[in-house]
Amino acid sequence: VKKIGVLTSGGDSPGMNAAVRAVVRTGLYHGLEMYGIIRGYAGMVDDDIFKMESRSVANIIQRGGTILKTARCKEFFEYEGRKKAYENLKKRNIDGLVVIGGDGSFNGALKFSQEFDIPCIGLPGTIDKDIAGTDFTIGFDTAVNTAVEAIDKIRDTADAHDRLFIIEVMGRDAGYIALHSGIATGAEHILIPEKKTDIDQVVKSLQEKEKRRKLVNLIVVAEGDEFGGAEEVAKHVKAKLPHIDTRVCILGHIQRGGSPTCLDRLIASRMGYHAVESLMTGRNNVMVGIQNNKMHYTPLENAVKAKQKINEEWMKIVKILAS
Ligand code: ATP
Repeated sequence: VKKIGVLTSGGDSPGMNAAVRAVVRTGLYHGLEMYGIIRGYAGMVDDDIFKMESRSVANIIQRGGTILKTARCKEFFEYEGRKKAYENLKKRNIDGLVVIGGDGSFNGALKFSQEFDIPCIGLPGTIDKDIAGTDFTIGFDTAVNTAVEAIDKIRDTADAHDRLFIIEVMGRDAGYIALHSGIATGAEHILIPEKKTDIDQVVKSLQEKEKRRKLVNLIVVAEGDEFGGAEEVAKHVKAKLPHIDTRVCILGHIQRGGSPTCLDRLIASRMGYHAVESLMTGRNNVMVGIQNNKMHYTPLENAVKAKQKINEEWMKIVKILAS
């Protein structure tokens, strides 16, 4: 491999910049030519590609978002679009591609690598931590810490007014942000897509706590829980406990932004470095992940959205510690 293109695709996540920096600097260290592609696959199709030097990635390791921009690209779903993208890489003699994104982006990379002679490496960049083959995804740690910080603030006001707050965090298919932030903020209940919730039991436990005059009540809900988010859960609770002052807070997009945590910068740097090493050693068309603190390479076709098993012990701990 002599010339590598790098792009960020799909939903953005904090730490993508640190990953881009690591890919570019590792490539340059090995004497390769490095190219940035703007707005994910859209930039590949539209020929929005530029040569990157070491300075191109200066002062970005601490920045959220992605300097390369990200997008969803309809044309890339079609062969014609992918062919156009290929021709744009080929005319620059780019012979390797690093894609930082989620499982959708890996599907695109897989198709592309099967059709054309350009090997692809995926790096898991998603706040949801729901990709098979890795214990970490770039952005999860920052997102969960942002949620914790916000929920701590809500706890202050909940406490001052004796209110019940039902807080919605991101996670359409995965409950990790809800589970981790809920445990770390001492939530009474945590509702996640991976687990069935007995809402009557939730109401009963709130009633019991009310009797004991237990004050702060926080319920953390993943947006993809079985009831359809915090507003819906609040409807159930308000119907059964109309006298309780119940409020809903949806954290929303603040969870995607902000300066990446140390952990996200570390894993992004490590994965970025290994993405280039992989292309150089011919370990192609894999997603670079970390499992049990070792690098782990998953063929792109297996780097899919995965519901990792929620540790039952956590659910028990939530119950015990909130009593
Ligand atoms: P996230 O889930 O975190 O938002 P993602 O990478 O899964 O990130 P998607 O919107 O699913 O995001 O995919 C990003 C882009 O990848 C799509 O807009 C499209 O250009 C390309 N892509 C996804 N799936 C395919 C596919 N099956 N074939 C070709 N291209 C695809």
